[in-house]
Amino acid sequence: MTTDMALEPAEAHLRGLLSQLGLDAEYVRAEADTLWWRTAAGDVPVDDFVGGYGSLVLGHNHPAVLARARELLDEQVPVHAQFSYHPYANDLALALNRVLWREFGVDRPYSAIFANTGAEAVEVALKHAGMARGAKVAALREEIESHLADADPDLARRAREHNEGRFDVPPVFLALEGAFHGKLAASVQLTHNTAYRLPFRGLGAQARFVPADGIAKAVKAERTTVLDVVDGRLTERDLPVIAAFFVEPLQGEGGINLLDADAAAQLRATADAVGFPVVVDEIQTGFGRTGTFHAAAHLGLLGDYVLLGKALGGGLAKASVTLIRQDHYLPDFELLHSSTFAKDAFSCHIGARVVELLEADDGAAYTRATERGEALTRALRAVADEFPTVVADVRGLGLMQGLEFRDQSSGTGAVADLARTGLLGYVVAGHLLREHHVRVFPTASASHTLRFEPSIGITDKAIARLTEGLRAVCTALRDHPDTLLPPG
Ligand code: PMP
Repeated sequence: MTTDMALEPAEAHLRGLLSQLGLDAEYVRAEADTLWWRTAAGDVPVDDFVGGYGSLVLGHNHPAVLARARELLDEQVPVHAQFSYHPYANDLALALNRVLWREFGVDRPYSAIFANTGAEAVEVALKHAGMARGAKVAALREEIESHLADADPDLARRAREHNEGRFDVPPVFLALEGAFHGKLAASVQLTHNTAYRLPFRGLGAQARFVPADGIAKAVKAERTTVLDVVDGRLTERDLPVIAAFFVEPLQGEGGINLLDADAAAQLRATADAVGFPVVVDEIQTGFGRTGTFHAAAHLGLLGDYVLLGKALGGGLAKASVTLIRQDHYLPDFELLHSSTFAKDAFSCHIGARVVELLEADDGAAYTRATERGEALTRALRAVADEFPTVVADVRGLGLMQGLEFRDQSSGTGAVADLARTGLLGYVVAGHLLREHHVRVFPTASASHTLRFEPSIGITDKAIARLTEGLRAVCTALRDHPDTLLPPG
């Protein structure tokens, strides 16, 4: 064990990597889109364009959220009251239902299972969809068995031979190429990045990853039939193989990739025709960041399950929720799944205040997200136009933007070496922090794409500081890349 490990038992290895890239800043205070970095020379303000990777649509320590938190603490609201009546959870779930109904023009109720983190909301959806699919298979099996019991013995034997083992095939979960749905043992199976997923392969149900333009084909490839005897004839019946299709309307960690509207329509139509649920993961995109509460509203893609997390906690609480359309909902699930902290009063009240703030004044916050998003996009596009040999693309929706660098791995020198190992975005992030006091990060699975997810209060001045830093980075990448590295 190194000395560092002895002194720093909490992820010293990661700290070592951060330190090599100049990213091991300690932040001691946060307000709106500013973090204060403790340095030997004093606390330095840093423009935070990472926004808790999507948690801070209202910014750090928003005054109204803080005020609500203080009230709750002063009132000594019980945080731990499992197995009791939680009206505040109903209030929050109803508020989320109302937003969903408004944005998608529907009035179908969604039941809510609360959890603590995004990955946990994904796990809830996985378990629930797996359970629902298991129940469908069991019902089909029972129905066929009752038909076979009365059928011609020869036909019944042929059907049973064909069906042998088929009712026991494990469920299939589908997700898109580039998907990110968390890092817990089951949810990581739906995260496409092999570095995150493969060490844990086999710990949970395996997903199949599908290109967005091949959804119908991928679903067709899963078709499995069993034999029944109907009206005296052997008849094929579809076995419900697919338990769910998980989709981010705008992929965050995969590199800020917006789902094509045609692909969204094809997914909805295929799911309805075949009869599996669509799980829309809005954990990073939800809560107004893209100019609507749900990013899927831009695509008209209404999920049978909708996952929310991150910003639900207003930047203070840890909370997530899995919303499940009531006609897909299994009430017994409530007896099988729970968590000590889930559905607690503190996070539910904070979540309700967040929804209230976003919905206030006819959704002024969404208009603001759109307007600030346009300002950010204009600024990023100007950088891209100025450095066409360095920047490949700027893309996104509202306040969830990505800037993709061209491949920097073919040159010689230390930065090209780091680009080859997928560290280019982190090199750039280190430089922007040290030299420009701007905090950015690449997306987790596309490390040459920087992501920008500031709050709806992001100022023109902060955007100007960001683009000044990006111009310096692009100049360096074009002319002398290794000057981006920390000295020494
Ligand atoms: N789904 C999506 C779309 C995400 O972006 C993330 C986190 N980046 C998760 C799930 C997992 O959330 P958490 O980190 O809170 O577990």
